[in-house]
Amino acid sequence: MTLQELEQEAIRRPDALHELSTNLVFGEGDPDARLMLIGEAPGEDEDRAGRPFVGRAGQLLDRVLASVDLDRDALYITNMLKFRPPGNRNPRPEEIQASEPLLLAQIRVIRPQVIATLGNVPTQYFLGSKEGITRTHGHWFDWKGIRVFPLYHPAYLLRNPSRERGGPKWQTWQDMQELVRVLATLPPKGATLHIDTAHQEGLF
Ligand code: URA
Repeated sequence: MTLQELEQEAIRRPDALHELSTNLVFGEGDPDARLMLIGEAPGEDEDRAGRPFVGRAGQLLDRVLASVDLDRDALYITNMLKFRPPGNRNPRPEEIQASEPLLLAQIRVIRPQVIATLGNVPTQYFLGSKEGITRTHGHWFDWKGIRVFPLYHPAYLLRNPSRERGGPKWQTWQDMQELVRVLATLPPKGATLHIDTAHQEGLF
């Protein structure tokens, strides 16, 4: 299946949140990306635009990426949830569960070598733990053979704008350098990636 086909399927069979939001925010970028960035859920600007990370947090994310010469066109960016939760509340466990088949299908198509998770929600999903982002960011984890690298969410950086040494922005700068260092060492993408999501098959 292609990403376009998946998106059409998600439009045909949206999850319950779609009634409370305007647009599906499927994701965008290079369908063959080595690096996939996964955020939490669309906000108001993303819901309006139907695109991930286009509001203030997204603009800061672009600057963070540019600081290490990463262009968002060369990555794939999406969120755990594809619809905006009302009032930007945190996603509920059942909403994450409902969004999971589509996210896993996207990962199967893109076959990223690295997944960078933005903030607690996607990080806790991929790590299968409740460990907070202040402890997990900047460390490498494995998820079904894919490297997972948690980063602070750009909205958190907006709330903590200081650039002082040791602060979240400074830490993110260190993390981004580690991320591009490792990306540069990776071999070309292999042709196949088997993700054990058998229980999800048939949903898409
Ligand atoms: N925050 C997110 O987690 N995702 C977006 O797309 C925008 C803001």
